[in-house]
Amino acid sequence: MRPTVLCFSGLDPSGGAGLQADIEAVGNSGAHAAIACTALTIQNSQQVFGFKATSKELLLAQANAVVNDLPIKVVKSGMLGTTDNIAALADFLRAHPDYLYVLDPVLVANSGGSLGNQATLVQAFVELIPLATLITPNTVELRALTGEDDLERATAKLFAMGAQAVLVKGGHEDTPDHIRNALYINNEMVSETRCPRLEGEYHGSGCSLASFIAGRLAMGDQLKQAVQHAETWLFGVLKYAETPVPNGQKIPKRF
Ligand code: PLP
Repeated sequence: MRPTVLCFSGLDPSGGAGLQADIEAVGNSGAHAAIACTALTIQNSQQVFGFKATSKELLLAQANAVVNDLPIKVVKSGMLGTTDNIAALADFLRAHPDYLYVLDPVLVANSGGSLGNQATLVQAFVELIPLATLITPNTVELRALTGEDDLERATAKLFAMGAQAVLVKGGHEDTPDHIRNALYINNEMVSETRCPRLEGEYHGSGCSLASFIAGRLAMGDQLKQAVQHAETWLFGVLKYAETPVPNGQKIPKRF
């Protein structure tokens, strides 16, 4: 049985983001994906219309059903939807300290739609931050989590809040011709990558990257190597992403 990544993530009916992105990305990394579904969202490639979060009892029941069943090595979380679900995940992680944990601190969809109450989610994430092997914020999420505008100060603050490693993703920064990502371990930058900025908006790029990293960690990569593998893979799947409708975000082609 392949090493397993247990993903706490929401359903996106368009198949671009959320649990489908996780399944496809983890599958491509060589690992097996298991899912504890956090929410059913109502959205397409253009906008989010709403969502219904899973109760914390149902969420934990899903996760606990596979704990003694699958060789779980890594937990990955994306959209969690409610502060109750965040607290439930924190309890689950504390009960399983041997699992690595990749925290993608999803606050809003790339289309701008709400995936939860941002102010309360930010407060609740404080409990998850010290439990994570790696946190993968984009710069919007990094600023929201720390209340710091300056990226260096924001990164340092995330470490002061207990982070162990942080991948700062620069896709939302004003760098027209490239995207810069930087990986920090224990508040020290250990690698920096720049890739050409592809045209257009992408649905589920963050989910895909974090899940591929989680999959590579499950397969035995060291953190730096897992991030490098994932960045190379993501660039390929975004390059061949498909546009469903003229105004829609592109859907990564993960196969
Ligand atoms: N999880 C779900 C269920 C979503 O619907 C979205 C965005 O729509 C995300 C996560 C975050 O997606 P992205 O990878 O585009 O940041």
